[in-house]
Amino acid sequence: MTSVTRFAPSPTGYLHVGGARTALYSWLYAKSTGGKFVLRIEDTDIERSTQEAIDAIIEGMNWLGLDWDEGPYYQTKRFDRYNDLIQQLLDEGKAYKCFMPADELDAIREKQKEAGEKPRYPGTWRDRTDHPEGQPFVIRFKNPLDGTVTIKDHVRGTIEIANSELDDLIIQRSDGTPTYNFCVVVDDWDMQVSHVVRGEDHINNTPRQINILKALNAPIPEYAHVSMILGDDGKKLSKRTNAVGVMEFRDQGYLPQALLNYLVRLGWSHGDQEIFSIDEMIEHFSLDAIGQSASAFNTEKLIWLNQHYIKTMPQSEVAEHARWHFEQLGTDLSQGPALEKIIEIQADRVKTLKELAEISQYFYQEYEKFDEKAAKKHLRVVAKDALLLAKDKLSAITDWNPENIQAAINSTAEELEVGMGKVGMPLRVAVTGSGNSPSLDVTLNLLNSEQVAQRIDKALKYIANRENS
Ligand code: GLU
Repeated sequence: MTSVTRFAPSPTGYLHVGGARTALYSWLYAKSTGGKFVLRIEDTDIERSTQEAIDAIIEGMNWLGLDWDEGPYYQTKRFDRYNDLIQQLLDEGKAYKCFMPADELDAIREKQKEAGEKPRYPGTWRDRTDHPEGQPFVIRFKNPLDGTVTIKDHVRGTIEIANSELDDLIIQRSDGTPTYNFCVVVDDWDMQVSHVVRGEDHINNTPRQINILKALNAPIPEYAHVSMILGDDGKKLSKRTNAVGVMEFRDQGYLPQALLNYLVRLGWSHGDQEIFSIDEMIEHFSLDAIGQSASAFNTEKLIWLNQHYIKTMPQSEVAEHARWHFEQLGTDLSQGPALEKIIEIQADRVKTLKELAEISQYFYQEYEKFDEKAAKKHLRVVAKDALLLAKDKLSAITDWNPENIQAAINSTAEELEVGMGKVGMPLRVAVTGSGNSPSLDVTLNLLNSEQVAQRIDKALKYIANRENS
């Protein structure tokens, strides 16, 4: 049998890193076993589910490149199927109508709490046949009274829960809608899910779901309950201390490859390998190697991975992702070099793509103002001669390439009998507006000689103004 995994988000918000990691593990397991990955939108909570959240989840999945083989399925489109099965369980005596009013149940629970017991429905209507006419009711699942439920969990090992711990779960509300736990069970069965990978916050649902699956004569999937992700501060991951939404990571300038690599290692390992291409993840992934303890987010490590991918991924791919950041800044990319060229010379200098876009603006438009500190330091009267001579020599170049540019700078320094820095730094500030750039030969090469001459003029004007003030 081939494996089927699923990602089953409730669309009540954006895709957050915890969900993304669960999705990644599910996706990897399907890929690594030649199986199928299903996307299922669990939108039964109509009050809290929104189309924006569905769109945001799909946007996050697309950005990460986690493609699905089936779906998206929507639970709200499957109510007939759930209700048919609820009817079947009623007919088979495996479920029953419960007419207990909510306030009566509340009172029972209060008493149980006072007595130090776990609040639970006491099974009042389990075997009663004196059903009142026209009264509202819910439908409850007849949980077995004896025995234990065994969960074989790939992360947590074997877990046993006594049925006496579980009460009779509501599977249909008084308004006729099926409840969440029931829908999950039917879906996992209908979608032939073989491996359920989900957050550990669902572990309490699992024994109940297994009992319902058994009652339906459905196969029981294997489970992997993945632990929580904590923030950089070791506390519960929160918006206040960390980025949590997947698209926030895009906004901050991370590559999806870096985030995926980061997330796969957050709770899973293969020896001491840190860098994994997608193919390597697929090759080595196994559910049994997922760790049990909660993992704390480490932004430094994510940055390190991001730098690694910016430097090593094919420049055309990095360019595709970088483009968005330039667009955010309103850069007109048609007015300058191909993005690949920028990446070639800037990749070593940045931590994020956002930074890349910010520090590469001068390739596409003339900066408005010089960086004040750099200009004060390098655009001084003594730099005038160097700039004038460099401008002449650069303008005279017929074949604009890094070698000729470098030769022009060298000969300027030689003729004026000054160190390279005395030419290079003023020229750098003149051309880029700041004191920071890749080496001048490659930087200038990505501009054209007219642009360079114009910017040198601008620097000379700045020096002249300084002289006169
Ligand atoms: N819809 C659930 C959630 O978003 C996931 C349920 C499951 O994976 O079984 O937390």
